[in-house]
Amino acid sequence: MAKINTNYRKLQAGYLFPEIARRTAKFQAENPEADIIRLGIGDTTLPLTESVTSGMKAFIDKLSDKNTYSGYGAEQGSQELREALANHYQKYGVDIETSEIFVSDGAKTDSSNIQSIFADDSVIAVQDPVYPVYVDSAVIGGLAGDYADDSYDRLVYMECNEDNGFFPELPKEKVDIIYLCSPNNPTGAVATREQLKTFVDYAAANKAVIIFDAAYAAFIKDSSLPRSIYEIEGAKTCAIEINSFSKWAGFTGVRLGWTIVPKALITENSEAGELNQVWNRRQSTMFNGASNIAQAGGVAVLSGQGQAESQELIDYYMNNAAVIKQGLVEAGYRVYGGDNAPYVWLRLPDGKTSWDFFDELLQKANIVGTPGSGFGNGGEGYFRLSAFGDAERTKEAIERIKNRLKV
Ligand code: PLP
Repeated sequence: MAKINTNYRKLQAGYLFPEIARRTAKFQAENPEADIIRLGIGDTTLPLTESVTSGMKAFIDKLSDKNTYSGYGAEQGSQELREALANHYQKYGVDIETSEIFVSDGAKTDSSNIQSIFADDSVIAVQDPVYPVYVDSAVIGGLAGDYADDSYDRLVYMECNEDNGFFPELPKEKVDIIYLCSPNNPTGAVATREQLKTFVDYAAANKAVIIFDAAYAAFIKDSSLPRSIYEIEGAKTCAIEINSFSKWAGFTGVRLGWTIVPKALITENSEAGELNQVWNRRQSTMFNGASNIAQAGGVAVLSGQGQAESQELIDYYMNNAAVIKQGLVEAGYRVYGGDNAPYVWLRLPDGKTSWDFFDELLQKANIVGTPGSGFGNGGEGYFRLSAFGDAERTKEAIERIKNRLKV
């Protein structure tokens, strides 16, 4: 008799974006003349750059010719792309071997699938608020326990709030896997070297493993802030890094990411090298490699011209972030993030819930944002605005907030 994986019944989230869509559609139906501006979802809006499209077109030409056609590639990614990524890390003074880099179809899948290489009694710690994928994957895999009193009883929630600058204290209890996301979605906070060092030291001392999600690393402008966890001494023994071309180069639809599993990484019951082999085995068994066209685009992103063009995309979005942040400060809000990350995180006036503010913003200013509570309990009382929109529309949105909302 087949039985369903009942862990799926324990999932709580998945309600955020559908609920945003439902409330927005209802408002639009009742107010057909309203000109709604969406600063909610973190999807990119600018087109692919010239070097990326020509790199992909040239590859498609090869695929169109019997003499140069290629089919399945290496599950770990093309050697050319892995070498280009290894060279990219050299810019941060980080040495990564190509055999430590695993190209994938994006950071979301990797940040979820990576849990399968750890024991099924692992204790997972997450930041709160959190990118919901880490939590839901743990729930599906049976690692989160049961849901009661607004939390899963086997997860450790590391609070991130105004008092700690949105970077968590070390867990009080012993944990095995620690998710850290920097620059952070949703808070826009970026961990300093010193902050990451405390976690690397904790992980090394406790043989815990940090899963470092650096999907927004390219948005860091301040050169004193780390773009890779491997800039921190000792991190190769205790950290896996996940990254993506999505936000960096507009690949949210193209799909391309990578994960680094260093050979030096160890756990309580594994020697150096074994986790790297196990991830290699997992990927070779369950994944047939990222699209070769996407990988050709990735190589183009990493070229000199590609980097210059991607920087233009980032500058455009970060200009939006500055507009949002400055406008909200002028409007009297307490505002975080937005300096080295494409998200602005707004502290709501006392007593106002995230969904209260969602409705108010939609009704008075016709703007859609993301309620902080959708990212966990720690997000209640906060609100996320995304810098990935059109520059003129973003300016218009902020003017409306300044004119129509009172703090
Ligand atoms: N990690 C974080 C923190 C994200 O915010 C996102 C997307 O919003 C992802 C990963 C997903 O990246 P990808 O498009 O590479 O799957």
